[in-house]
Amino acid sequence: MRHSIDLFKKVVIGNGVSRELGTLVSELGAKSRLAVVTGPNVRKAIVETLAEEALSNFSVDIFEAASSSVEVAEGIADLVNSFKPSLIIAIGGGKSIDIAKYASRKIGVNYVSVPTVTSHDGIASPFASLRGMETVYSVKTSPPIAVVADIKIIAQAPKRLAIAGAGDLIAKVTAVRDWRLANRLKGEYYGDYAASLALLSAKHVLTFSKTIAKYTPAGLRILVEGLISSSTAMCIAGSTRPASGSEHLFSHALDMVANYPALHGEQVGLGTIIMGYIHGIDWKRIKKTLRKLGLPTTARELGVKEEHVVEALTIAHKIRPDRYTILGESGLTRDAAEEVALKTGVIGNDS
Ligand SMILES: [Zn+2]
Repeated sequence: MRHSIDLFKKVVIGNGVSRELGTLVSELGAKSRLAVVTGPNVRKAIVETLAEEALSNFSVDIFEAASSSVEVAEGIADLVNSFKPSLIIAIGGGKSIDIAKYASRKIGVNYVSVPTVTSHDGIASPFASLRGMETVYSVKTSPPIAVVADIKIIAQAPKRLAIAGAGDLIAKVTAVRDWRLANRLKGEYYGDYAASLALLSAKHVLTFSKTIAKYTPAGLRILVEGLISSSTAMCIAGSTRPASGSEHLFSHALDMVANYPALHGEQVGLGTIIMGYIHGIDWKRIKKTLRKLGLPTTARELGVKEEHVVEALTIAHKIRPDRYTILGESGLTRDAAEEVALKTGVIGNDS
């Protein structure tokens, strides 16, 4: 079977590395025009200074991503296209990077990812998550040509956002098991190397949870490396399989029933407790680690009604029918959903 892998050319991590952005993009072949995709807050706090200083040799146009809906992505892609940039730079969190990925794919121009938060593993992955009418779509794109993770910038993000990324990494524990299951039962392609790499990023978090919880530059660096490693696993697999399984389906289902109640990493982290229990692995260790990190482990901590957790568990298997997981083709009954949520202490601890 032919399998082709697209990877980024360069990753730069460190304190103040965004100051080198101009030199880096020149090395990558950028010419005079650069399109920066960002959000309104990051624009004021970071992008305007970067445009005046590090990118002063370029003609920079800034495009604001208000949301990550399919319509907004289409609109921004058209605007960026009419500017005819030689390179796109995404500076921000999930939304800006997702929109830049989409625009890059649509107009055929490379993009550089400059994450300002460590909340999820989309920072270097070749997939854009866009919100549609009902659910989130994962659109295949290219990986960024380079990733510039400036720890000084990332350290300014609120702690809650930063730590959520640890939840997204812990999720690989069940994602990889779901992938292997799909291989065994459905004959789906499974890549052991990509799976091991994704799992390694989860182990990294389990091992260094104490350092990460302290929210120091050292902890953030561990997180960034883990998130890039998980993104690389997706590049190698050519799909989101190593990074996203039943725990992600649960999180998407929760977004539907409770209207995006918490952060992605928080929701998938909690989902990993439940799916870990169903898989029969050491879910207590997962729960303990999430707690150590200060991530939610109960419906209440997540800010959702217990009923919503149960409901999401019963519909999760319908979110992506092509993605076979431990939830199977018929999913969980209401009784089973209630039981697993109770047994893992996600619900039933409010009194
Ligand atoms: Zn995720």
